[in-house]
Order: sequence, then C-alpha cells, then structure tokens
Amino acid sequence: MLPIIALLGRPNVGKSSLFNRLVRQNKAITHDLPGVTRDRIYGEATEDEVRFAVIDTGGMLPDAAEHDGGGMDRSVFQQAVEALDEADVALFVVDGRDGMTGLDQAVSEKIRASGKPVLLVVNKVDGPEQEAKALADFHALGFEIAPVSAAHGYGLSDLRLRVAELA
Ligand code: GDP
Ligand code: MG
Repeated sequence: MLPIIALLGRPNVGKSSLFNRLVRQNKAITHDLPGVTRDRIYGEATEDEVRFAVIDTGGMLPDAAEHDGGGMDRSVFQQAVEALDEADVALFVVDGRDGMTGLDQAVSEKIRASGKPVLLVVNKVDGPEQEAKALADFHALGFEIAPVSAAHGYGLSDLRLRVAELA
C-alpha cells in the first residue's frame, strides 16, 4: 500500500495545481473559480524512490456555490474530514499572497484535531522576494512550513522528499 497524502484547504489556494504538479498530469481540474473540484481525485506521485498516493479535495458543491454562501464552508469541512480519515499525511495548503483567513484558521483546527502529521504548504510564493512576507502570518499556527509555487515549480522537489519522510 502506498502512503496516502491529502491536499486540504479552502478553495482557490492552489490544491489542484499542486496535485497536478505532484502527479505530473492534468488529472485534477484547476480553474479560477473557487470550488471546481467537486469530488476527491486520486493520483500517484512517483520520483525515484519517492512514491505516494495523493488525494485532491474540492471546495464545494455546485449547488452550494450558487445558492448558499455557507455551503462552501460546510463542504470544505466535510471533505477535509473524509480525506483526513484516509490520509497518512495532511498537506494543508494556504495562499501566501492572501495571508491567513478565518477559514484557514478553522480548517487548521480540524487538521490539528486529527493528530495526523501535517505540512503547512504556503503556495503562490512565486519569487524569493515574496517568501518572508508570505510565511509571516502562518508561523503562529505552529506547523512545519513548506513554501512552494505550484505555478512555477518552486519548492516542489523539497516538498516531495519531505512528504516521503513523513509518510
Ligand atoms: P484549488 O481551488 O485550491 O484547487 O486551486 P486551483 O489549483 O484551482 O488554483 C486556483 C487559482 O490559483 C488558479 O487561478 C491557479 O492558476 C492559481 N494558482 C495556483 N498555484 C499558483 C501559484 O503558485 N502562483 C500563482 N500566482 N497562482 C497560482
Ligand atoms: Mg481544486
């Protein structure tokens, strides 16, 4: 059995972009609209000795998007809880350009409560000059931090190696 890695976090932080990078294929759907990933999507990451299964989670159901702003939060939680159940390691993805939001904070409590190993992946660190500012908000959560740019590829091989160590 491969270790299972779950990508968790609020919509639009770049979970699906990261998933595609990790499994090196466009299996997850990325989109500018938050929440396009309706269901969990599974893929397998392989690099030299490093092999693990990855679960991408989406943000919300299409109905909830249209009719109910509160549906987004509920679905984020529901999917986080279900994926956490299956996961050996949680990758908690946040947006380093937005900084910390209330929903990030709430999701972080779910993840912490699971007791699973967690890496806080600060995404959208697109250039070295952005790194210090991007990370500043998130140190307070007390998780080990991995800065990455799913768009540019920054930090991804370090992330793969660290995930393999934790799994
Ligand atoms: P998800 O909802 O968490 O799965 O997020 P997506 O992967 O669908 O990405 C949401 C948006 O963020 C898309 O417009 C992506 O192109 C963009 N995005 C993802 N990763 C990065 C990144 O590293 N840097 C920047 N600047 N944008 C990114
Ligand atoms: Mg997605």
